[in-house]
Amino acid sequence: MRDQLKRLEDLQAHDARIQELENSLKAIPAKLAATQNDLARVEGLLATERQALTETERYYSEQKGLLTEDEIQVAGAKHKLAQAKNSKEYMAAQREIDQRREGLAAREGEIAKLVEAVESKKKLLGERAKDVDNLKSSVDKDGDAAKARMAEIEGKIAELRAEREKVAAQVKPDVLKRYSSIRMRRGLAVVSVRNGTCQGCNMNIPPQLYNVIQRGQTIETCPSCHRIIYWEDLMKDDKKDDQSSAAPSA
Ligand SMILES: [Zn+2]
Repeated sequence: MRDQLKRLEDLQAHDARIQELENSLKAIPAKLAATQNDLARVEGLLATERQALTETERYYSEQKGLLTEDEIQVAGAKHKLAQAKNSKEYMAAQREIDQRREGLAAREGEIAKLVEAVESKKKLLGERAKDVDNLKSSVDKDGDAAKARMAEIEGKIAELRAEREKVAAQVKPDVLKRYSSIRMRRGLAVVSVRNGTCQGCNMNIPPQLYNVIQRGQTIETCPSCHRIIYWEDLMKDDKKDDQSSAAPSA
């Protein structure tokens, strides 16, 4: 039974490694999705800012159109001034010119501010777009690296599964069945007993059972946690065992 216990330990080590690799495999797409979400978020922000710029540019051309109208109005007022037949008409035209000119100046000021705003926004967006491009290529690169890493892990898992099957084939079917059902419920299915204590649940093994597992002739389970147990020292003296079997006993 000692070799069966050894194989179970080996099987368990394989299962643990496979589980570990499967976990890291699962973690990769989630991590990747997080960086892709970041990218989508900054791309979204950039699009919104571009939209705002378009809006400002539209307002700018509207103001330019109104400026032309203002200029026509000023010209009209000037014409009225030239055509004034009396001082009353002259005064009114002069007042209108002043008002129109004031409006014109205000609009020119507004347009100058818009030009400045559009220019600086364009510059900022140009820089922002560059940053987003850089982030995008880094995310793409991460994606490629992640794919390669996943393929690598999948390869390792396949390799380990094949090895595991070889080990499993050497375990007696009933023992394997017990191992599998304990593993399903407890995760760890095979544990050692050290100084009479089960290393799976830290409970003491009854003395009689402790004697039984020290002989190592049967597959026993812990009465508390129901895991397959073996005496720690039974596995330890592996090399000594080989030597003693190779050398003639004194
Ligand atoms: Zn136990």
